[in-house]
Amino acid sequence: MADFDDLMSANRTFAKDFRYGGFDGVAAAGVALVTCMDSRIDPLGMIGLVPGDAKIFRNPGGRVTPQALEALVLGVHLLNVQRVLVVPHTRCAVASNSEAELRERVAASAGQDASWQQFHVVEDQVAALAEDVAKVRSHPLVPDSVLVGGFLYDVDSGLLEQKV
Ligand SMILES: [Zn+2]
Repeated sequence: MADFDDLMSANRTFAKDFRYGGFDGVAAAGVALVTCMDSRIDPLGMIGLVPGDAKIFRNPGGRVTPQALEALVLGVHLLNVQRVLVVPHTRCAVASNSEAELRERVAASAGQDASWQQFHVVEDQVAALAEDVAKVRSHPLVPDSVLVGGFLYDVDSGLLEQKV
């Protein structure tokens, strides 16, 4: 169990002045964000929010997957979400490699065949973003009153640019 000692110790420090006990888990700022798993992204900080403000769904590429849509429908109807941001980013691994390249790199790391593993690479990031935003806007359980925007996050400048 020692493998996680550093993180568990940090957690005890974190819990000492924990301020979110009893909070009901709604998005206090009415925001939901779908973005990439990339460690260069601070999804709350980049839009001036703090814990408690937003529902956040992350995956490789920041794609609107079926699970992301589930999250957004729950967010909109049960958790106070009124605005949705879909946020892929520059220099994303799934948008700058081909499926074959990612499989080769994973295979080299794993020392075994990875040709069966899907990574859902993106050929055209802005086109994929437009499709993803359309999926949210056209979802039968997402009312027109919900604002949905597609943005590209620049991991080198920290700036968001609205594309859709
Ligand atoms: Zn990424």
